[in-house]
Amino acid sequence: MKIITTPDARLREKSEKVREIDDEIRDIIADMRKLSLDWEKEHPYELSAAMAAPQMGVNKRIIIIRDDMEDKSKATFTALINPEIIRAEGKIKTDYEGCLSVPSVYGMVPRATKVRVKARLEDGTEVRIKATDELARTLLHEIDHLDGILFIDHIKGVKDAFYEMNSKGDLIPVDYDKKIANNTKLWGEECRK
Ligand SMILES: [Zn+2]
Repeated sequence: MKIITTPDARLREKSEKVREIDDEIRDIIADMRKLSLDWEKEHPYELSAAMAAPQMGVNKRIIIIRDDMEDKSKATFTALINPEIIRAEGKIKTDYEGCLSVPSVYGMVPRATKVRVKARLEDGTEVRIKATDELARTLLHEIDHLDGILFIDHIKGVKDAFYEMNSKGDLIPVDYDKKIANNTKLWGEECRK
């Protein structure tokens, strides 16, 4: 298993619901946890906050969310199965986002600041989560993955919304027309049409 990146078509598929939480599903979740932490080891300035199953080429509705998004030494994740946004509301806030599957590109993405999510935990328990701010953003980003949507889609055509990280870990604006608009690594061949 490995993390797949754009323009891999599997990132663009709608994922299917999990019917039964069996060993196969538990193995997928274990792989997701491992891959997230492996990625983090190679990215010293970043924290692996979350991941969705399609990011390893598995089109099933599963995401994992880091329990502590500040402290890198706390490396546990909660898995959410068949997560659904029940409501997205509150002020729209624009903030930085990156994605394990969109290498070296970051963006300022507008998102709702309050969400309610329904999901199942690994043991099958149904949970309802009320989230705000950073956690709300993370849930919206990850649940988008299950519908084949990437953060770059929300800011396509927004010329000052894209950034890249330099070797010191600072985010620097990128020239949209030169580096983003016709970048087939991001959008696939579609953007050439
Ligand atoms: Zn992502």
